[in-house]
Amino acid sequence: MKKIVLGILIGIVVLGLSGVAGAGKLIPMADQAREKAKADNSPIIEKTGDGDLALAPSGLEKVVFIHYKKGYGRVCDYDGVCEPELGENPSCADCKKDKEEPDTSSCYAFLGRGVEWKELPVDYVVDPDNLDGLEEEFVINAIFLGAEEWDKHTSADLFGSYTVDYNSTWDSDAPDGRNELLFGDYPEDGVIAVAIIWGYFGGRPSNRRIVEFDILFDTDFTWGDATVDPAVMDLQNIATHEIGHGAGLADLYDTVCAEETMYGYSNYGEVKKRDLNVGDITGIQALYGE
Ligand SMILES: [Zn+2]
Repeated sequence: MKKIVLGILIGIVVLGLSGVAGAGKLIPMADQAREKAKADNSPIIEKTGDGDLALAPSGLEKVVFIHYKKGYGRVCDYDGVCEPELGENPSCADCKKDKEEPDTSSCYAFLGRGVEWKELPVDYVVDPDNLDGLEEEFVINAIFLGAEEWDKHTSADLFGSYTVDYNSTWDSDAPDGRNELLFGDYPEDGVIAVAIIWGYFGGRPSNRRIVEFDILFDTDFTWGDATVDPAVMDLQNIATHEIGHGAGLADLYDTVCAEETMYGYSNYGEVKKRDLNVGDITGIQALYGE
């Protein structure tokens, strides 16, 4: 029997203690924090600026959201649809609409107060190179639709134009001023996607801002269009979630928020994150206007 693999989104943030250590000494701190984050899903912020001035300007920090696979099972969603999800029920035989849909308007979370894009629109770079034989047009379209889904729910001109570059880089050491989305092999097993958000997260909220995001789709997974083949990881589904981080939103782990795009679990075949839910819309409008 085929196990259904689940993705878990865990925000990892290493507390930046300026003056405590150079970049090299931050690594064990990050490891400790990573273990802690796995345990309680707490986001962790890593501050790189003061530690290594050669790499990044002072005060610049990054937050990393890692999408792990974990668990298996299926549950009924609130429309009575049997969906891959974290749960103990492996059968959909009793899946029917029998639950009251909860009020999820409070289902949103931010990277931090004032941590948002202050200069709009946000342009981005797509690298369509992949191991799954996906055509350039498909990859670009999936990512474009992910960005547009956020854009169309706010009055701001949030996401601008994209460029295509087959030499994109996922910038985990220092930002390069480009918001890049690409496929690549993340060294840790079981990771579906990783989003790094660079920005100024400290000081007065009016001075805080996001300056860059970089999103890696792990080539350990088979990517595609899950509306055509439910056995694949749906690129548009995961891209929409990850771009939500790029806009300033954090993961949600409360099962009450399971229908939100920013819910921290995903799976093969899942497409419900393609469309924003009530909490996602409330969150993006709180950041950029109704
Ligand atoms: Zn996430």
